[in-house]
Amino acid sequence: MPIYEYRCNRCNKEFSYLILNQKEMVELRCKFCNHKDLTKLLSSFSVHQTEASRIADFDASKPPSEDFYKDSRNIGLWAKKRMKDLGVDLGSKMDEIVEKGRTGKILDEYNK
Ligand SMILES: [Zn+2]
Repeated sequence: MPIYEYRCNRCNKEFSYLILNQKEMVELRCKFCNHKDLTKLLSSFSVHQTEASRIADFDASKPPSEDFYKDSRNIGLWAKKRMKDLGVDLGSKMDEIVEKGRTGKILDEYNK
């Protein structure tokens, strides 16, 4: 069964759905705010990884390659991993920064 990833166009949160049938797909709503306006993200269930496993697999001792950043989900991963290795817990603040970097909002702030 395929797992699809979506981003909510209202709250910008990303989440995955296990699609059981077509009917369910039509009625998809954001898990966080119940909004219907969703963007389907590129995903493949065969390579589906949670962020936790991406961080675990990831070697932060080397600088990330250019390809790495072509997957927007990887933005911020390197920093997170480094922080984790150093025993620094930035908690939700870090998630917030990473989320801004991924959605391009961080640029909006610089442009103000
Ligand atoms: Zn939402």
